[in-house]
Order: sequence, then C-alpha cells, then structure tokens
Amino acid sequence: MYLDSPKKYLLPTARAAVNVCEANHNLYILQGFLVLTMTEWRQMSACRDSEPSLFFPVGTTGPALDYISAAKAICAQCSVREDCLQYALESNQEAGVWGGYAEDERRRLRKRWLAERRRRAV
Ligand code: SF4
Repeated sequence: MYLDSPKKYLLPTARAAVNVCEANHNLYILQGFLVLTMTEWRQMSACRDSEPSLFFPVGTTGPALDYISAAKAICAQCSVREDCLQYALESNQEAGVWGGYAEDERRRLRKRWLAERRRRAV
C-alpha cells in the first residue's frame, strides 16, 4: 500500500523481508505494520522478475496482444503502478507496457497529461 512521499509502503511481512535482503531500504514498524521507505520505485515493481518480452512484445497483433494482456495483469497487482506510469509519462517512454498502459493507450494518456500540465502552468 502506497502511503506518501518520500515513498513508503506497508508490506506483508514476508515480502518486506525479501526486499530488505535485496536493497538498502529503511524499514521500521508503525502500528503493527512493517513500513518500508523507498528511494527507488523500481525495486518494488511486480515485473522485476518477469519475462521482458511480455512488456515489450514485437508488434501489436497476434501473440503480442496476449503478451500485452499478461503484462497488464501483472501491472494490476503492482504496488508502484502510479510511480511507473508517472515516470513513463514524464520521460515519454514510447515502447512497451508501463503502469498498466500499452503504447497506444499511453500515447493518448500522455496527450491529456501534457495538456493538463500546460493548463496548470498558465
Ligand atoms: S506498473 Fe507494470 S510495468 Fe510498471 S513497474 Fe509495475 S508491473 Fe512493471
């Protein structure tokens, strides 16, 4: 569960234990929950150990559609989905599935995101 910034996540105990072994995370207990403070959202990605071809399929038809669906199902379970999507929009990632959005969906989303950003800047 995403809490606030700097990134803090409430984690099931087993998942937290794995991550603490793997990276330089800050871990503490708050009201009975393990709280993990992250500086790098990628460390928490659900796709971290997934097959890259699911997220970056060749083409947009046939088997690629199955890969994209499988990638989106992983994204749906991902605790850093918002961070991932924000990064993809800001850095204009054109290829692959990011934050649960395929390339064409993200292109449309980015147009709206840019328009909103321009509107706020005025
Ligand atoms: S939202 Fe999807 S692509 Fe982004 S980190 Fe999570 S699983 Fe990976």
